[in-house]
Amino acid sequence: MAKSIVIIGGGVAGMTAASRLADLGEKVILLEKEEEIGGHLRNWDRLFPNRRPGYEVLDDLIETLGNRVDIRYRESPVMIVPLQSSFLIELQSGEKITCDAVLLATGFDLFDAGKKEEYGYGIYDNVITSADLELMFRSGKPITTAQGSVPKRIGFVHCVGSRDEKVGNLYCSKVCCVTGVKQAIEIKEQIPDAEVFGFYMDLRMYDRHFEEMYYEAQQKWDINFLRGRVSECAENQDHAVILKIEDTLTSRPLRMTVDLLVLLVGFVPKPETTRLATMLGIGVGEDCFLASLDEHTRFNHSAKPGVFITGTTKGTFTISNTIADAGEAAIQVHNYLKNH
Ligand code: SF4
Repeated sequence: MAKSIVIIGGGVAGMTAASRLADLGEKVILLEKEEEIGGHLRNWDRLFPNRRPGYEVLDDLIETLGNRVDIRYRESPVMIVPLQSSFLIELQSGEKITCDAVLLATGFDLFDAGKKEEYGYGIYDNVITSADLELMFRSGKPITTAQGSVPKRIGFVHCVGSRDEKVGNLYCSKVCCVTGVKQAIEIKEQIPDAEVFGFYMDLRMYDRHFEEMYYEAQQKWDINFLRGRVSECAENQDHAVILKIEDTLTSRPLRMTVDLLVLLVGFVPKPETTRLATMLGIGVGEDCFLASLDEHTRFNHSAKPGVFITGTTKGTFTISNTIADAGEAAIQVHNYLKNH
C-alpha cells in the first residue's frame, strides 16, 4: 500500500516540503488551518535583503506545488494518536486520516507587543509593530500617522519580545534587526526628509548582504542607529510619542519625541505546536520551540520515529533558510518512508 505523510501547516516550510515530497513521488496531505496557504508571507510586502516583493516568492511556491498535493483548507488536527507504526489523525471536520509519518510545519507567532506595557502598544495611537508597518506598505498607501499626517521623525525599537528576561524569551529572533533596517530604508524612500532612528542593543546583521544593507541605511539614507534601550513611552497632546532612552554607550539618559514608533517584534512559538507536540509525545526546548533529535545531523527528526519537524517550529529562520530546511526535511521523510 502507498505510504502517506501528513504535513501540518501550509506556510513556507509546509509548502516547500510538500512539493519536494511530491517530486519524490510521495502521497502528501497538507493541512492548513486558514482559508489560504502562505502563512506570514502573505502579509509581508517586500523581503530583505533585496526588497523583492513577497508575493513573487509566494506565487513561486504555490506554482511549484501544482495540484500534486491534497491540500485541506480550514483543517487542523483535533487529536493525533500514535499507533504502532502509523498515526491516526482526527480533523476538525470529524474526518479521520491514517498516515505513516507526520511533519510539523506549524510556524511561529509574532510576539504580542501589548505585553511590553512600557511601549504603549494598543494604548498610544502612533505606536505600531513591524508587522503593522508591513501591512501599511502592502496597502500601497502613503505612510501616515494615525491622524493622517506625514511622520517626520520615526523610531524603531529593536528586540521587542526577544533577548528579554522579563518576558521569558532569552533567544535572539535573528531577523528583526534586518527587518528594521529594511523598513527604515523603505520609509526614507517614501519620506526622504524624515529623520529615522533605530534603538538597538546589538545589531545582528548575520547573513549574506545584510551588512551591506546596514551600510546603505547609514551612508545613502542617513538613518541614525543609536545604541540605547527605550525604557518608557508616553503620548503628548499631538499624539506624538515621547521616549525615555538610556544611551548604553555613554550611560546617559535621553528624551526624544517621534511621530511614529515601530516595535520590531520577535518570533514566539505557537501554543498550537506545543499542543501537537504533547499529543505526539515529542519534546520542546527551553525556548519552547520544538527540539531536534540532534542539532547538527538530525535537525528535522524529532525524538519519535515518524515525526519530523521543519522551519520556524524549531526557532527563527529567514525565508531562504526555511526553504532549505524544508527541502532537507522532505529528503529525511522520504528516506524514512522508503525504509519503514
Ligand atoms: Fe534583537 Fe536584532 Fe536579535 Fe531581533 S535580530 S532579537 S532586534 S538583536
